[in-house]
Amino acid sequence: MGRLHVLAVPFPAQGHVIPLMELHKTWSGMASKSRKDDVRDQIRLVSIPDGLEAWEDRNDLGKSCEGILRVMPKKLEELIQEINRTDDHNITCVIADGSMGWALEVAEKMGIKRALFSPAAAAMMVLVYRIQKLIDDGIVDNDGTPIKNQKFHLSPNMPTINTANLPWTSIGDSTAQRRVFKYLLRNKKSITVADWLICNSTYDLEPDAFSLVQTLLPVGPLLASNRQANSAGHFWPEDSTCLEWLDQQPACSVIYVAFGSFTVFDKAQFRELALGLELCNRPFLWVVRPDITTGANDAYPEGFQERVSSRGLMVGWAPQQKVLSHPSVACFLSHCGWNSTMEGVSNGVPFLCWPYFADQFFNQGYICDVWRVGLGLNPDERGVILGEEINNKVDELLIDEKFKARAMELKEMTALNVKEGGKSHNNLKNFIEWIKS
Ligand code: UDP
Repeated sequence: MGRLHVLAVPFPAQGHVIPLMELHKTWSGMASKSRKDDVRDQIRLVSIPDGLEAWEDRNDLGKSCEGILRVMPKKLEELIQEINRTDDHNITCVIADGSMGWALEVAEKMGIKRALFSPAAAAMMVLVYRIQKLIDDGIVDNDGTPIKNQKFHLSPNMPTINTANLPWTSIGDSTAQRRVFKYLLRNKKSITVADWLICNSTYDLEPDAFSLVQTLLPVGPLLASNRQANSAGHFWPEDSTCLEWLDQQPACSVIYVAFGSFTVFDKAQFRELALGLELCNRPFLWVVRPDITTGANDAYPEGFQERVSSRGLMVGWAPQQKVLSHPSVACFLSHCGWNSTMEGVSNGVPFLCWPYFADQFFNQGYICDVWRVGLGLNPDERGVILGEEINNKVDELLIDEKFKARAMELKEMTALNVKEGGKSHNNLKNFIEWIKS
């Protein structure tokens, strides 16, 4: 048999690159344990254009989706041809991100094996499969626009979905929403050519979702700690000094505050968050990405940095998986991106939920209503989350011991999945066998 040569195609965003890298490192690590096969942890990074000019805004997902479809399928085909012509080993399998289904059509056309890896909740795949039904039931129109504001369930044990907070209705303006919806429809069609559908979740976190789409198999949680290694694929340099700072804090005392790679705050909301953290009067570690608000340094309330210097630390980008596993961390003020959700759950950390867009509102539903390991924050009548609300909810979360107790149960349950003989572990083993076959 020739050497395996897998081509992985991530969606070009931070929360998609990290778990796809982790998937690769996990499966290649597992495969190379049996030394008979020539599978090594070798990753070569290559790039193809994403259809946008260098100066265009990649946070405009509507534009990104259009650019991707316009340019990437042809470029991917050319890349595979080029690799097959110049490399000793032809591409044997394409693994595409859940939002890059079109890549599987390219693989099919070229006679290459294909798998789809979704870095989101399994429920998101259920939702994509249900899109036509949502249109038929009069919940959304053909453009994905809600007919009226209403709530519905994918199944009684899954979070309630508000039509205003569907993944595509909570992204950008109406043009962006229509573009993203169109992209999802196209994606739904192309994933039918996948030989395998896998995702970064577990059966026991989302039992109903997996019974609704039985071809979808969980392989999560995919975490670097499972391989005793560092996570890879970060767009910003990680500031590891915060780990030493955490070492100096009392056990279970620190509020870890991070909103992933996309969230932005206007200045007023940013200030209110700072005031909230100050009010809490507890140690906090806050990830203030350089682009989280316009002019972050100016945006802090006057004197804030001096006043909190003895108990607060701000960093540009943290080694988040390591932070969340640190014994000093008490809770996670999070935007509820799925990676952050899986990382918090895997470490038994209770959440304060502050979703920003896309699937994050749905993930909050799992955290607060289904698993009951967190609390949501309520905005005031102007839509601002006030410092006092943050302070009150931190107290409520940390004083009521049930949140931590349930979070620890969830942690234990989740960890079993990736141990030898665990369900995710078995799925991944079968997946590797298929890649090698
Ligand atoms: N992350 C990190 N350092 C930070 C903030 C985030 O390493 O300071 C990582 C985090 O661990 C997660 C990813 O970035 O793996 C963010 O993915 P998520 O799905 O949570 O959010 P998104 O960025 O897609 O909104």
